[in-house]
Amino acid sequence: MDFDLNDELLAIQEAARKFAEKEVAPTVDEDDREHRFRKDLVQKMGELGFFGCIIPEEYGGTNTGFVSLVIITEEIGRIHSSLRVAINMQIGPARALLDFASEDLKQRYLSKIANAELLSCFAITEPDAGSDVAAMRTRATRDGAGYVLNGSKTWISNAQVADVALVYAYTDPEKKHRGISAFMVDLPQPGVTAKAIADKLGANASPTGELFFDNCKVPRENLVGNEGDGFKICMTDLNYTRLSCGAGAVGLARACREASVQYANQRVQFGQKIGEYQMIQDMIAQMLVQEDAARLLLYRAAALKDQGRPNNLETSMAKYYAGETAAFAADCALKIYGAWGYSKEYPIERYFRDSRSYQIVEGSANIQKLIIAQDALGYRKANR
Ligand SMILES: Cc1cc2nc3c(=O)[nH]c(=O)nc-3n(C[C@H](O)[C@H](O)[C@H](O)COP(=O)(O)OP(=O)(O)OC[C@H]3O[C@@H](n4cnc5c(N)ncnc54)[C@H](O)[C@@H]3O)c2cc1C
Repeated sequence: MDFDLNDELLAIQEAARKFAEKEVAPTVDEDDREHRFRKDLVQKMGELGFFGCIIPEEYGGTNTGFVSLVIITEEIGRIHSSLRVAINMQIGPARALLDFASEDLKQRYLSKIANAELLSCFAITEPDAGSDVAAMRTRATRDGAGYVLNGSKTWISNAQVADVALVYAYTDPEKKHRGISAFMVDLPQPGVTAKAIADKLGANASPTGELFFDNCKVPRENLVGNEGDGFKICMTDLNYTRLSCGAGAVGLARACREASVQYANQRVQFGQKIGEYQMIQDMIAQMLVQEDAARLLLYRAAALKDQGRPNNLETSMAKYYAGETAAFAADCALKIYGAWGYSKEYPIERYFRDSRSYQIVEGSANIQKLIIAQDALGYRKANR
């Protein structure tokens, strides 16, 4: 099942698996039940270099590449889908800085984010701007030596625990999406309030919240890139975080498949193991094929990026399919476990709840399909 991984990647996979099984698994049910964010685990992931894998060594990373990012995230997602969110919250802002920021901003934030000394988040979504990023209303107005931010963001992972946020806001609304800019905003600080979104379907151990900006002052040096670069930064960054998100979905699908195989070999009905019934075998076969196909799509997209080749289309294909795969696998696992899947005694109900986020975040399933179909139809090429 492993796609010709070299010794370095196999060692990274082993390290991530060991960490997830030994340090995350023992408390995963409790952490989920208590909605407990495990900052200690995130910091350990930082120390292990899990966030620095796509950051050069000069900025505190390990530079092991995008395939390694996919491998690490799958291992974490297999054990706790909530915790894999932390990977995107660190790599998203870190890569935006690497690709677009001034040397000063890189020096101030990059290695600290890569090793999780600073927890970060990225804030795109607003109450009226989800898939339609350019519909955002948050404004950054020039004011003396900097900018003043006003507006609000919602559904922001890490909002209430982050030390720094990559915030997108309009500097020039007349220019539509070319008028959006990106800023590094230190948290907490006067003019910013964070409020938890306490009740959600899944990803319980990953904090989600709202950010309210009320005349929040941001120094001019904290502008990432130039004024008007925000939309480009956002789309470039989503292309990275989609990969990792898809890998989390494959990890979750794998957990569903592994648990289903185990249960089907143990549960006896009508005098034989349910795994011996062809209708159960049908689900197991489909789960396995989809999981493998999703993983291969992700490896291809990641390998392209490691080779310095365009991969937007391949990333959308992989993220879309991985999200569908996780939802399908969780659905099958629930059917295979019957009433026990419906109880909190087994992790299946958690898998089921967590699986749905993959069809929503980092560009919904529909948005990925738009990108794929528009490329196929020749309306807008994804790989330019
Ligand atoms: C757990 C969680 C964590 C999140 N973390 C973050 C975060 O850290 N930072 C952040 O900025 N955001 C975050 N989000 C927000 C997430 O990115 C948005 O939910 C996502 O972009 C979709 O936006 P929406 O929910 O407003 O749905 P909408 O955009 O309102 O979409 C609703 C439905 O309409 C469909 N739709 C929309 N437009 C089209 C179209 N043109 N064609 C066809 N169908 C369409 C969508 O696919 C979807 O099915 C998070 C969300 C969740 C659930």
